[in-house]
Amino acid sequence: MKRRTFITNISFFGGALFVPFQLFGASLPHFIEGIFPFKVGKFKCYSIIDGIWPYASLELLFHGAPTAVLNQKAKEFNLSPTNIKVSLHFLLIDTGEELILVDTGAGDMAKEQGDQAGRLRHKLIEMGIDPNDIKKVVISHQHFDHFGGVCNENGEIRYPNATFYMDRKEYESLKEASGWEAQRLKSIEEKLETTQDGQEISKGIKVLKAYGHTPGHIHLMIRSDGEEMLYVGDTFGHELHFEYPDWAMSHEYSKENAVQVRKETLNRAVKENLTLFSCHLPFPGIGKVERKGESFKWNPTSSNKG
Ligand SMILES: [Zn+2]
Repeated sequence: MKRRTFITNISFFGGALFVPFQLFGASLPHFIEGIFPFKVGKFKCYSIIDGIWPYASLELLFHGAPTAVLNQKAKEFNLSPTNIKVSLHFLLIDTGEELILVDTGAGDMAKEQGDQAGRLRHKLIEMGIDPNDIKKVVISHQHFDHFGGVCNENGEIRYPNATFYMDRKEYESLKEASGWEAQRLKSIEEKLETTQDGQEISKGIKVLKAYGHTPGHIHLMIRSDGEEMLYVGDTFGHELHFEYPDWAMSHEYSKENAVQVRKETLNRAVKENLTLFSCHLPFPGIGKVERKGESFKWNPTSSNKG
């Protein structure tokens, strides 16, 4: 099957930003900050900002990186050694039949950090979407910025009519957890379906295992009308992970497996000319991968319009 270029579709839909269009009866009449609409085939998709997150040291994002190289790269990318801010953005898919939210943002979990994140649900409402209309919520993994927003601090589900999806291994690991993770899990447990590698959770949307960042971290392959995009969750924490896929994040469950997933994803993305959606690269986090010598480079398909 011949793939049409993704950029054509982004431009087309992007061009419609200022024109009212119908979305489940509600119109989106003007540009909304932090929302980036685009299409994958017939699916209307939206990259939605949840906020930003500051890392307090380079070591947290680039564990084991040689100091001299890291310092040089930090200068190149203008990174503060003690306050590295990354974007948090996630994905809404309108398949035409159902609304699917991929990851829920930090929710109340960001309160202690001065509410720099946790805006995703509010953004949906700003778009004219009733959270009650979300039919499926996919959790790529258990970290707070993806899982924290499933319920509020009182345990009330934020998407009460949704079925929640999570990899079986992630669920098993979460069952051992205490604290906020246990509270979040308890709130959605009755509505949770666990998934396995290759499972289709909606027509054209398939779960792929990408274990390493967490025990059951997943990617999502999204296909419609001959076009495709791979949602890669937290396989990349920063653009530097394209150039240095061996640099793990200090909080990765299995650094070895995470590095392997990064390399496999990079090779596949180049080979198949895949479009990626990456949750912590500069907003909106959509782009392609280019080979650069022995390594790789991130090529965003669109710059920050939020
Ligand atoms: Zn994350």
